[in-house]
Amino acid sequence: MIKAVIFDVDGTLAETEEVHRIAFNRAFADAGLDWDWDRDLYRQLLKVTGGKERMAHFVQESGAPPLPPERIAALHKAKTDFYTRMADSGEILLRPGVEEFLDALREKGVKLAIATTTSLPNIEALLSSALGPQWRARFVAVAAGDMVAAKKPAPDVYQLALRQLDLPAAACVAVEDSRNGLRSAKAAGLRVIAVRSAYCADDDLSGADVTLADCEGLTLEVLARF
Ligand SMILES: [Mg+2]
Repeated sequence: MIKAVIFDVDGTLAETEEVHRIAFNRAFADAGLDWDWDRDLYRQLLKVTGGKERMAHFVQESGAPPLPPERIAALHKAKTDFYTRMADSGEILLRPGVEEFLDALREKGVKLAIATTTSLPNIEALLSSALGPQWRARFVAVAAGDMVAAKKPAPDVYQLALRQLDLPAAACVAVEDSRNGLRSAKAAGLRVIAVRSAYCADDDLSGADVTLADCEGLTLEVLARF
């Protein structure tokens, strides 16, 4: 019997990556940089988890002179501000099927948790806009990228969620859309439901316990298989 479901955010709860990409580009333009991340490039860059790490990797790969960490941090803050504004204005919606699944889990008494590489302000912006200001009360645990030392595919963020839940990995299942996320959850000893998403459509999700084409496949029947 599964006692908790731990959700990834980007690509899983919502197709946020396109909004992240636009927010990055607005931050670059705002800072007078001529960087423009198009969709194909961004798909490549998504292999690097974490916004600051992604920018540093891009600078390194492009052969440009390295940016000092404080410049990267300032760019990342500006990007988060743009993202938050876009989320607040309702430009991001939950994927079809997600809210119904969250409601069904709550009715069943299954706990909800989040384990994401994204930062807390991003989660707050998305979920308060999508689920209302009381969203936090629905989740027993919220483990974000800025709370752990190592981002996915390291298991840290899932281990933190499990500590907050006070449950063993065997009592929980993770929902993920990416290879890095799947590896992270597996490294924490979790079983995984993988859902295909727009930006990670080609990710190797072998090793997931269940793979679904979309979030509308997330049901209590699927959960009952565990
Ligand atoms: Mg994801």
